[in-house]
Amino acid sequence: MSERVCDFCKSKESNKNPLISGNDTCICKNCIIASYNLLFGMRHKDEEAEIDKEESELRIVPPKELKAVLDEYVIGQEKAKKVFSVAVYNHYKRVLQGAATETDDTEIAKSNILLIGPTGSGKTLMAQTLAKFLNIPIAICDATSLTEAGYVGEDVENILTRLLQEAGGDVEKAQKGIVFIDEIDKISRLSENRSITRDVSGEGVQQALLKIIEGSVVNVPPKGGRKHPNQDFIQIDTKDILFICGGAFDGLKDIIERRLGGNTLGFHNKKSKKAESIHLLDLVEPDDLVNYGLIPELIGRLHMFATLEEITKNAMVEILQKPKNALTKQYKKLFALDGAQLTFKEEALQEIAELAISRKTGARGLRAIMEDIMLDVMYDLPELKGYEVIITKEAVLKEAKPMLVKQKKTSKKSA
Ligand code: ADP
Repeated sequence: MSERVCDFCKSKESNKNPLISGNDTCICKNCIIASYNLLFGMRHKDEEAEIDKEESELRIVPPKELKAVLDEYVIGQEKAKKVFSVAVYNHYKRVLQGAATETDDTEIAKSNILLIGPTGSGKTLMAQTLAKFLNIPIAICDATSLTEAGYVGEDVENILTRLLQEAGGDVEKAQKGIVFIDEIDKISRLSENRSITRDVSGEGVQQALLKIIEGSVVNVPPKGGRKHPNQDFIQIDTKDILFICGGAFDGLKDIIERRLGGNTLGFHNKKSKKAESIHLLDLVEPDDLVNYGLIPELIGRLHMFATLEEITKNAMVEILQKPKNALTKQYKKLFALDGAQLTFKEEALQEIAELAISRKTGARGLRAIMEDIMLDVMYDLPELKGYEVIITKEAVLKEAKPMLVKQKKTSKKSA
C-alpha cells in the first residue's frame, strides 16, 4: 500500500500529523488547524472592523440624550448644557443630512458656539465630554498662544494639525471634528493681556481665526503625520468642523449694563428679587462683544451663545462627589484597591470648596487642593489595609492627620 500524503500540503502521514480522508482526498491535521485559523481568524477581524466602523461613524444624537450625558459629568450650568446640546445636534444634523439637494436648495448654516463663563466653570469639560461620547476628535487650544503668521508664537493652522493628530491622521475624521479655542476674550482688541511680540492689535489673530472658522480649505503642516511622508501640506476643509470658543469676558457685564442703561440700575436700587435673579450675561448681544473688542465678522460666525455661571460653594461640593469621575469617587476606588476605606466628612468637603473658591480658579483648583491633602495618606496607603481613613475638616486645614479607624472584620455569620 502506497504511503498516504495530504492533498493540500503533500506532507506524509505520521503520528504527529495524522490524515483525515474523504472522497478521494486527504487532509492533514496541520492543514485543518491552518484552515481553522484562517477562517475564524478572518471572521474575527471582519467583526472587529465592523465594530470599529460602527463606533467611528458619526451619529445624530438628540439634544435630550446629549444633555443627559453632560448631566453625568457637568454640575449645574443647566442653560449652557441645553444650548450646547442643541448646537451640537444641529451641527451634526447639518453635516450628515443638511446638504442642499436638487429639490431643496436650503443649506443649513454652520452653528459655531461661544461659551462665556468664568475660568474653571466647565466650558472645556462640556466640549470634551460630548466629543468623547460622540467619538469625535477634539483639539483644545489657547487663543493667547496664537499669532498672525510671522510673529512669535503658534500659527493658527497648528490648531488643525493638532486636530489631525487627534484623529490619528484621518483627514475625513478631522474634517468633522471639534476645535475648542479657549481664552478668545484675551485676543480682543481691547484686551490688556496682549503681548508685544504678537500682533499689535489682536485683530490679526482674529482675522486668521475667522478664515478657518468660516469654512475654507487650509493647508496644514502634518508634522509627524507618518502616513504622508512625502507631502509638505495636507489640505483640510474646515466647513464641517465645529468651532467652540470660550472665554471669561471679564468686564462684559459692565458693557451689557451700560447698554441697558438705567433699567438695571433701577432694578438694583430697588434690590428686587427679580433683578437679582437676572443673569446679565444671559442678555449678551453681538454688539456687546464688538464693544468688548471682537471683530464683528468673527462674532457673526459664532451663532450660539451660552453663558456659564461661577461655581458656587454648594456646586463645588457637588463637583467633588457627584460626577461619574468625581474626585472623591476616584480616591475611594484607589483606597478600595488597597483594601482600605476612605470617608470624607461633610465639613471637610465644605472646607475644600472654600479653599477652591479662595483660589479664584473655579472648580479647576479642586484637584490640586485634594492632591495636597491626600499626599501623605496616599504615601502610607499600602500599609492601611483594613482601615477606614476619615478626612476631617482639621485634616483639610492641616491641623491634624486624617483619622484612622481599624475596621472590624465581618464574620461570615453577620455578612
Ligand atoms: P473652563 O471653564 O476654564 O474651560 P474647565 O472645563 O477646564 O474650565 O474645568 C476645569 C476642571 O474643573 C474640569 O476638568 C472639572 O474637573 C472641573 N469642573 C469645572 N466646572 C465643572 C462643572 N460645572 N461640573 C463638574 N466639574 C467641573
